[in-house]
Amino acid sequence: DLWQGIDFSRSKAEARVDGSTGVMFSDVAGIDEAVEELQELVKYLKNPELFDNLGIKPPHGVLLEGPPGCGKTLVAKAIAGEAGVPFYQMAGSEFVEVLVGVGSARVRDLFKRAKVNKPSVIFIDEIDALATRRQGIFKESTDNLYNAATQERETTLNQLLIELDGFDTGRGVIFLAATNRRDLLDPALLRPGRFDRKIKIRPPGAKGRLDILKIHASKVKMSHSVDLSIYSQNLPGWSGAKLAQLVQEAALVAVRKGHESIDQSDMDDAIDRLTVGPRRIGIELGHQGQCRRATTEIGVAITSHLLRRYESARVECCDRISIIPRGQTLSQVVFRRLSEESYIFERRPQLLHRLQVFLGARAAEEVIYGRDTSKASVSYLADASWLARKIITIWNLENPMVIHGEPPPWRKEVNFVGPRLDFEGSLYDDYDLTEPPLNLNLDDEVARRAEALIRDLYDRTLAMLQRHHAALLKAVKVLITQEEIIGEEIDFILDNYPPQTPISILL
Ligand code: ADP
Repeated sequence: DLWQGIDFSRSKAEARVDGSTGVMFSDVAGIDEAVEELQELVKYLKNPELFDNLGIKPPHGVLLEGPPGCGKTLVAKAIAGEAGVPFYQMAGSEFVEVLVGVGSARVRDLFKRAKVNKPSVIFIDEIDALATRRQGIFKESTDNLYNAATQERETTLNQLLIELDGFDTGRGVIFLAATNRRDLLDPALLRPGRFDRKIKIRPPGAKGRLDILKIHASKVKMSHSVDLSIYSQNLPGWSGAKLAQLVQEAALVAVRKGHESIDQSDMDDAIDRLTVGPRRIGIELGHQGQCRRATTEIGVAITSHLLRRYESARVECCDRISIIPRGQTLSQVVFRRLSEESYIFERRPQLLHRLQVFLGARAAEEVIYGRDTSKASVSYLADASWLARKIITIWNLENPMVIHGEPPPWRKEVNFVGPRLDFEGSLYDDYDLTEPPLNLNLDDEVARRAEALIRDLYDRTLAMLQRHHAALLKAVKVLITQEEIIGEEIDFILDNYPPQTPISILL
């Protein structure tokens, strides 16, 4: 018998009976509110009898929800670490097997082991993989493997519900789960008595990012000259995991360069590697390619400078322009991000300016090469088209019209759009924009408006670059010889070659 001797029921979760994950709340930053709420669980785990005797019930289950890499696993481990109790972790996907009965056996086994070693913490990561909304009536598909997998997942989920309902007998065990797609979860799981507590783990703000950087910097040798607050301010949207990765990457760069400790240049290099990617060796653009690339990148950079200079546009200013192939790109303009607030309150003029910056690539090509355009500016045109469509549809900033996308369930509930759903709100405060367009005619209409918007802005950008022909040409030349220049260089060139400078000066 092929399966003989293999015990499928044993979960892969490793019991840490030594008593600790070693993670403490001091290892977690940027999610203070969540930590505050979770402190209570630690008190309970440290002395469950006291609570039980007083008749105070701990929450049945706690659902941690939020985007990946923001510390859901970390904070769950910290609860076990602070309380000094064993931690049983499994990923939702580990329960999902095609073999009949394996998933539910693993659930039973996991809970059994946690109860034997109580007080303890059970943590199921990506619970959505295991607990997606059931189909109700099991729908047969022609694909047998798919049928088996669906049925198996539903049996596993049922077993999990049974364990959660029978939890009263298993006092002293805290059940935590994490998801970044709460909207996918089966409603039965969210009913009171199952997950009593739902806690949002949000991406860190500037202060949170600074604290997270400090935690991770304290684990490596970071030079005192490195001002971490600059990085925390300039990296909006970066998760805790990404920031931890940044510090690790900077340490590697420092080792490679033979530095004693991590300095500012190592941090900057690490950011480059994590964003645009490491420098690619062995790719040669050739002189023609370099000229084209330099033209489009300078077109983008100079447009952003000109808009800031002459139209007080609040667009990103460029840090560095390069025709050195890195990661996925052959050349690139690296922008310095604006503060978080400017993105939140981004309004129409700012978005239109950003659109013009993208169009600067093709406009610069037209100024230098005439109508003979190349592939070099195509990605920027694609960015521009995408942004234009968003401006028109989702943000609804042009003439008001129908907006794409499906309202999230809570919105349907509150606004009585569509049928009432058994659902208690959603993680997403926004429309699900991944929905396909409502109908084709509308899509055509959007395309038509996007085209008109882009043409209008393109003509303006082209006229602007034509007026600054000399500065454009000069900057392209400098970039081709140096391969990489900083944003200030563009300012310097613009000062020296004001609008309508005769080209002959350059020759
Ligand atoms: P999630 O479970 O939300 O996907 P993790 O907890 O697995 O994210 O985060 C991965 C790693 O990123 C952590 O081990 C830690 O090094 C770092 N990290 C993430 N969030 C934080 C945070 N809030 N504070 C400190 N470090 C963090």
